[in-house]
Amino acid sequence: MTNHSGWNFQNSYIELQKTFYAKLNPTPVREPKLVVFNEQLAESLGLNPSDLHTPDGAEIFVGNKIPEGAEPIAQAYAGHQFGNLTMLGDGRAILLGEQVTPEGKRFDIQLKGPGRTPYSRGGDGRASLGPMLREYIISEGMHGLGIPTTRSLAVTTTGEPTFRETELPGAVLTRIGSSHLRVGTFQYAAGIDSKEGLKELADYAIQRHYPDAENAENPYLSLLQQVIERQAELIAKWQLAGFIHGVMNTDNMTISGETIDYGPCAFMDTFDPATVFSSIDIQGRYAYGNQPSMGGWNLARLAESLLPLLDEDEEKSLQLAQDAISEFPKQYYANWLAGMRAKLGIFNEEIEDKALIENLLGMMHKHKADYTNTFRALTLGKFEGIELFETEDFAEWKIQWEERLERQDQSKEDSEELMRKTNPSIIPRNHRVEEALKAAVEKGDYTVMEKLVAVLKNPYAYSADQEEYARLPEPPERPYRTYCG
Ligand code: AMP
Ligand code: MG
Ligand code: MG
Repeated sequence: MTNHSGWNFQNSYIELQKTFYAKLNPTPVREPKLVVFNEQLAESLGLNPSDLHTPDGAEIFVGNKIPEGAEPIAQAYAGHQFGNLTMLGDGRAILLGEQVTPEGKRFDIQLKGPGRTPYSRGGDGRASLGPMLREYIISEGMHGLGIPTTRSLAVTTTGEPTFRETELPGAVLTRIGSSHLRVGTFQYAAGIDSKEGLKELADYAIQRHYPDAENAENPYLSLLQQVIERQAELIAKWQLAGFIHGVMNTDNMTISGETIDYGPCAFMDTFDPATVFSSIDIQGRYAYGNQPSMGGWNLARLAESLLPLLDEDEEKSLQLAQDAISEFPKQYYANWLAGMRAKLGIFNEEIEDKALIENLLGMMHKHKADYTNTFRALTLGKFEGIELFETEDFAEWKIQWEERLERQDQSKEDSEELMRKTNPSIIPRNHRVEEALKAAVEKGDYTVMEKLVAVLKNPYAYSADQEEYARLPEPPERPYRTYCG
């Protein structure tokens, strides 16, 4: 039953065994204030913004008031964190329930930062304002870029401080996802050593995300194969956009194929496969260039967790899992190559395309070119203002590229159109994100962030108002660093 705010909860997750979650309510806070609200997203969820973009909405999005039909839980999961398996769970998140939209789509409504849960371990269950605004900006930016992602509905301040290295204002993010099932949820199920639990979870994931797997000869193998396919698509999109997730632990990899958990993530500026922004990633495990292989590693952990369901025979199971996993690098590479061809305006396939692309990337690395702006300039056919374009290397490469474009049936205009659709004119640039956060957190001025979020909705527009957002900052004094909030 839909009420006047548009809430229409159906909470299927709590029908799983009780080992998969803990029922609890968020911890109330003193003084909730709704500081950012995504009206468009609210509407697409069937929610009524005029009812929720209000003090009453703030009570809901901070966790003080439970909306009708919600049955809040914290979800249990495990995860390999930087390679070490740990039992985790929502330590600072509470799932209100699943909102079913007027079109019949189901989305998790999750509060991030609503207080302690049974899975909080030593943590306070809270989040601070800066990192929650950061997740809002970047996740909405990813959505604008066409990259599958969880989304952000609201940020609500709590009126209470959080204690990190310093005292920071507390906030709760309302996160929307097509589910919060993770590779780590399957590791948890495998870890509690109950085949029934594992089967229940796998059936649930199939029903929710891959319903056609049910009719496959081996539904659980099909589930594994489809997650692998989606992740191969997703990670190729990250690489093509220059997105660095920063903390690709198995608990931060979804079964749905959406990007999740915007902690120390950031977009690469200067092209360098070794780029790492995260202050805690000392080894560079999750560097830009490692993301595809780390994705494969995580999926191997999913395959391992699913082994008991793949076949009665252990050896056969192992073989099926290995065969499925061995597809990942091939699928990833095919997606990446197709995406790179499009970024260069190429429609058909030639064997030599690989070399053409690798040569460009090699030059970009050597000449420290900005990743996004190089492709932007190629798209616009503007060959000034970028050092790389002044080099002999590039002059030679450009001739080869132009010859390559001539060898296809499509016109120059067709190529340009393809490039405009594929190469963003703007991304959430680190200095712009920081500037927006500073204004909001230090001055309570949300207009800088609102403008940034608005312009990031159409990153392929190549409109005049985007020019300033494409500009690079003055060379920073220190390398950019990101932190887990
Ligand atoms: P993450 O690195 O963000 O994926 O988080 C890893 C684990 O730490 C998850 O189980 C989180 O719920 C938990 N966690 C992170 N921050 C906090 C916090 N402030 N309080 C309690 N648990 C937390
Ligand atoms: Mg996480
Ligand atoms: Mg996190």
